[in-house]
Amino acid sequence: MSRVYNFSAGPSMLPLEVLEQARDEMLDYGGTGTSVMEMSHRSKAFDDIIKQAEQDIRDLMAIPDNYKVLFLQGGGHTQFAMVPLNLYKTGHADYVKTGQWAKKAAEEAKKWGEVNIVASSEDKTYSYIPKLDKSMFNPNADYFYITYNNTIYGTRYTTLPDTGNVPLVADISSNIMSEVMDVSKFGLLYAGAQKNVGPAGVTIVIIRDDLIGNAKADCPTMLDYKIHAEKESLYNTPPCYSIYVAGLVFKWLKKLGGVAEMQKINEEKAGILYDFLDNSMMFRGTVTPQDRSLMNVPFVTDDDDLNAKFVKEATAAGFINLKGHRTVGGMRASIYNAMPIEGVQKLVEFMKKFEHDNK
Ligand SMILES: *Cc1c(COP(=O)(O)O)cnc(C)c1O
Repeated sequence: MSRVYNFSAGPSMLPLEVLEQARDEMLDYGGTGTSVMEMSHRSKAFDDIIKQAEQDIRDLMAIPDNYKVLFLQGGGHTQFAMVPLNLYKTGHADYVKTGQWAKKAAEEAKKWGEVNIVASSEDKTYSYIPKLDKSMFNPNADYFYITYNNTIYGTRYTTLPDTGNVPLVADISSNIMSEVMDVSKFGLLYAGAQKNVGPAGVTIVIIRDDLIGNAKADCPTMLDYKIHAEKESLYNTPPCYSIYVAGLVFKWLKKLGGVAEMQKINEEKAGILYDFLDNSMMFRGTVTPQDRSLMNVPFVTDDDDLNAKFVKEATAAGFINLKGHRTVGGMRASIYNAMPIEGVQKLVEFMKKFEHDNK
């Protein structure tokens, strides 16, 4: 067996321990004589899995009791529609455009209401988080929407907008459980699992009770949070295996010390890479320093051929998926929770050597 360091933006690395446990339990989960993949979602064994996964999310993120935790399908993209379909009352929402995901979410929300783009960083290829001035907010909006961590561009909010009574909604697909978040500051948080918590297929939604039950009568049943909340995410067959593996990741994270401890490790990991980029004569980060993501680190050299050479040689050396998004070019290292610190240290050593050899 040979494992590589996988810097993919998603689906991305899972902790080795988690994969090993999933392997060990593959054919016979907990003495049931079946794989979790073969189990009824109405069975006692699966009910324990989903209930435990929910409890572990609640513990890890310190979720207040007046929030529901839902396990849904359809990824982040389905949330782009579910959020407006469920949260619009008068049909007005504020969006901050910090990248492709925010832009897509806003475009979806325009189908059913009026979207006010409060601010945008499109002018500089989304390389910063725009300064938000409360005078630009609509105090009567049904909700205020942000993409907390911008996976493609490598930016993240370090302070959250104060939206008063307007519920703050955040897409946390690429930074869930990577840093401490005060859930009570949000009306709704959601994340596709495949970046930071598990295999693709399950989407976690954390929603304050008062935001449930406002969908219009013509909202498709499957897109109504109320249905899923009432049925405790078992209205229809949930993505059982993805929920099970995510549950193993939550246990791994708890054992490691929880989200606060994970944040410290993530700050250290990102720090190693940013420090190198700030001191390199060949490589540089593309993001305004104060808005840098802990999870996604885009960087470039000033020469496209050199970028391509770097990606090729890095791949051969066991550092895979470092090619940047086509809209930014260059490279991007996604260093989610499961990326060990050695992976980042070794990548930096490799970059130093590459810089030395290609001067
Ligand atoms: C990956 C990603 C998405 C898209 O998620 P899908 O699950 O592929 O629909 C949306 N938002 C953010 C922040 C992402 O990183």
